[in-house]
Amino acid sequence: MTALEQLIEALKRLPGVGQKSAQRMAYHLLQHDRDGARAIAQALAAAASQVRLCERCHTFSEAPVCEICSDTRRDASLLCVVETPADQAALERSGSFQGYYFVLQGRLSPLDGQSTQAIGAQQLLARAAEPAVQEVILATSFTAEGEATAHVLGEALRARGIKATRLARGVPVGSELEYVDLGTIAHALVDRR
Ligand SMILES: [Zn+2]
Repeated sequence: MTALEQLIEALKRLPGVGQKSAQRMAYHLLQHDRDGARAIAQALAAAASQVRLCERCHTFSEAPVCEICSDTRRDASLLCVVETPADQAALERSGSFQGYYFVLQGRLSPLDGQSTQAIGAQQLLARAAEPAVQEVILATSFTAEGEATAHVLGEALRARGIKATRLARGVPVGSELEYVDLGTIAHALVDRR
C-alpha cells in the first residue's frame, strides 16, 4: 500500500467515515493543509499514549484519578452510571448532578457478544458497594440496548441491597444521552425513579 492509501484506510476507522469522505479528507490535508496534517498526527499520537482511564470511574483521564473523582466536595451518596465519557460530559454540562460517576465500557449488546463482564459490571458493583453510596442512578441511553443494560445492572445492584434508580422518561426513546438537550437531562435526573 502507498502512504496515501494507508492514510485513507486509517481515516476510514473513524465512525461514519467511508471511502469517499476518507479520500476527501486525505486529499484536502495533502493539497491544502500539510501543517494541519502534522498537527493531527501529533495530537493523535499524544492522546493515544497519554489519555488513560480513571482508576475510579473509568472516564478519560491523564492522571490516575480524574478531576471529578478527586473533588471531595461532591456528593458521595450518589453514583451515576453512564455508557461513555461523552455522556458523562453531557451530564456535567447540565449542571444538575453533584455526585460521582461510573463510566461503562459501552452497553450490553448480546448480538455482538458484549457481556456484562466486558462493560465493567464487576467494577461497578464493587464501586457501588462502598459504604458512602446510597443510590446508583442508571443513566444509560434510551435505546433497546441501553434499556437492557439498565435492567440487568439494576437487578444486580438490587440483589446486593443497593438502591438503583433510572433516569425519568423525559429523554426521547432511542436517544443517546450525548445528543439530548441539557434541560431535558436535568428534568430526567430530578424525576428519576
Ligand atoms: Zn474518575
